[in-house]
Amino acid sequence: MIVAIDGPAGSGKSSTARVLASRLGLMYLDTGAMYRAVALLFIRNKIDPESDDIEQFLAKHSIRIAFRDRSMGVFIDAEDVTSLIRTARVTELSSRVSMLPIVRTKLVAEQRRMAKEQVAVGSGVVMEGRDIGTVVFPDADIKFFLEATPRERARRRVLQIRSNNGEADFDQVLAEINERDARDVSRSASPLAKADDAMVVDTTRLSFDEQVALLEHLIRERE
Ligand code: C5P
Repeated sequence: MIVAIDGPAGSGKSSTARVLASRLGLMYLDTGAMYRAVALLFIRNKIDPESDDIEQFLAKHSIRIAFRDRSMGVFIDAEDVTSLIRTARVTELSSRVSMLPIVRTKLVAEQRRMAKEQVAVGSGVVMEGRDIGTVVFPDADIKFFLEATPRERARRRVLQIRSNNGEADFDQVLAEINERDARDVSRSASPLAKADDAMVVDTTRLSFDEQVALLEHLIRERE
């Protein structure tokens, strides 16, 4: 089974997908982590996404997800970079590198390969991102599009940063969320969009537990 969850930054996709995968006995695949890994690779190698020869550079590296007991790690070549991709700098650059068609082509091929591998061994995946239901798996068994108001998404993000002992200013976080949304929606390569057959879930007024329970119910109803 392939469950596709798309939506903008801060809509609760990652945390929901992770818990859902564990309840349903499926693998969890966070495709945003792969765009973040590419951003980290660009930072380390001082690659300018607007000017350098990205194709040749990317061909020398692999970006992979490794499943570990229902959670996942992201790798650049043989290096586990899972704990290095959540910085503000990587977040900002990941939104820029994800606009490049060459980056998307490479990562989408890998995402399809990994999901098919899971299906082949009789498992399945809960895959989350921006283009899963529209581009990566248009034939996914079930598709969700999670939404929440920008203010609510910024509020959650601020809480998350503070709970990790970071400092966060609400207005700045809100501005960053609006900027990332604008780039995701307006890019020409696979923009953030709701698939026609996706179920829209507005999580603005839902608690995390309610959100997970609702999606689980909708999936089990389909089984
Ligand atoms: O979901 P997350 O915020 O970790 O994703 C990082 C960036 O990767 C996003 O800003 C988005 O632009 C991009 N992304 C994408 N397509 C996906 C997943 C993420 O363009 N399927």
